Amino acid sequence: MSAVLKPRSMIGEIEEYFRRFPDVPKEVVVKVELLSRGHWFTDAALAATKGSLVKSYRLFSYDLVPMDSLKRGEARQVPEWFYIFQGPYDLRPVMIQTTMDPSSPYIVDVVDGRLVLTEGGKIICNVSYPVEPTYYKKKFADGTLYHEVIAYGYFVTVFRQCQYWGPKEECRFCDINENARAMKDSKDFTLNAPVKKVEYVEEAAREVSRDALAMEGHQAGVRFLITGGTITKTLQGKTEDEFYAQYLRALKFGGPRRHVALQTNAKTKEETKWLHGEGMDEHNANMEVWDRNLFEWINPGKNRRIGYDEWVKRMVESVDVLGEFNVRPNFVGGIEMAKPHGFATIEEALKSTTAGIDFMMGHGIDPRFNQWRREPKTNLVKEHEQPPIPTEFYLRLMSNRYEIWKKYGLNLPLKRELNPSRRYMGNDHGTYDDFPLLMEAPWYQNVKVRTPEAVLQAAAGWKEPRALTIHGPAKD
Ligand code: SF4
Repeated sequence: MSAVLKPRSMIGEIEEYFRRFPDVPKEVVVKVELLSRGHWFTDAALAATKGSLVKSYRLFSYDLVPMDSLKRGEARQVPEWFYIFQGPYDLRPVMIQTTMDPSSPYIVDVVDGRLVLTEGGKIICNVSYPVEPTYYKKKFADGTLYHEVIAYGYFVTVFRQCQYWGPKEECRFCDINENARAMKDSKDFTLNAPVKKVEYVEEAAREVSRDALAMEGHQAGVRFLITGGTITKTLQGKTEDEFYAQYLRALKFGGPRRHVALQTNAKTKEETKWLHGEGMDEHNANMEVWDRNLFEWINPGKNRRIGYDEWVKRMVESVDVLGEFNVRPNFVGGIEMAKPHGFATIEEALKSTTAGIDFMMGHGIDPRFNQWRREPKTNLVKEHEQPPIPTEFYLRLMSNRYEIWKKYGLNLPLKRELNPSRRYMGNDHGTYDDFPLLMEAPWYQNVKVRTPEAVLQAAAGWKEPRALTIHGPAKD
């Protein structure tokens, strides 16, 4: 019989981080904690998600527990992300990608009619949920929901499996194949085929563009990310480039003012040029970890097929084709400390990854750090216990990234997306974009009322706050 560990109080630790790292925005501290240790929803907080933008299909589960352990239908009820703001620490609004864990000390609850984030019964801040876009209600004739084709107007997983298969090939943090199987077994989703129909993607994207037009009153443009597993040989008779190019063409040329990003294995300069011609504006050759030895351990398939030196060379050369800010490889933030072969100390891990950030930014590459979620069905977690990565590591790494971002004079990370919060706030899955935005973006500096609406109003110059982006009873 296993002992049930009582969660320890974390508010004191959070306040200690505020004191020790006065130059780190408080919002970054709380967000790192929430992504690292997950969070949980009371029944009341779950009931309040009605009408919100619920979690749809994505590449990985991003939860700290398996889907079949969720007994209240959470997989179809929790929001894709939520906002934290105000409260006793007067936080400015940031987005948190929902990361479920029933043993987390952080609980989203309803107290006195307001959605709040609590720990040990104490309120940390307010919470609200994003409202679903209009197109979320639409279905194809066969019952497939549009949002399972394109999630939150942006995320398009066109191939839900990976031909890197098993522990000798799959990236060790990745649960794509397990996640697709769990979603299928749950019978809660309308789309279970591993490959999405190009015509469905094209039509769902048209609807996203229509929603954007209705929201803005003019065609402000939208952004899509095409993602999916590696194709080592062929899929439906097509090579990896040919397969993904179908979706590039459908998304880029199927409507006005679109920015289309593709993430795949690193591509040669010639391949990048060809894909650019097929509609690719941005390419993310997700390298996942900077250290050479860890790259080889964490990404066995990528290492065998392309290798470390060639991967880095291809990333650098892709800037020549696509331009700065259009090469944003993902790194699984914190995985450089994974057990048993990761760095044992924060200092060593910081030294390695910071050197990588400097090299990349010096070559016009803008690395993203999606915080490692330690999903239970991944090889890393199945093979070894993986405790949370120290919060201090993330705070110092993101501070270093911000300093290097300033050193090279890079742009504020703004993105044209359907959801206004996703344009003006950082990404929900990590704090890398929040940090410069919270430090530098004008709309975060002099906002008197710290609600998401007020920040968006300041960012977009809206005359009136727009209720359509925010959901839930949390208002001061
Ligand atoms: S390439 Fe790696 S991270 Fe991407 S889907 Fe395949 S196993 Fe997962």
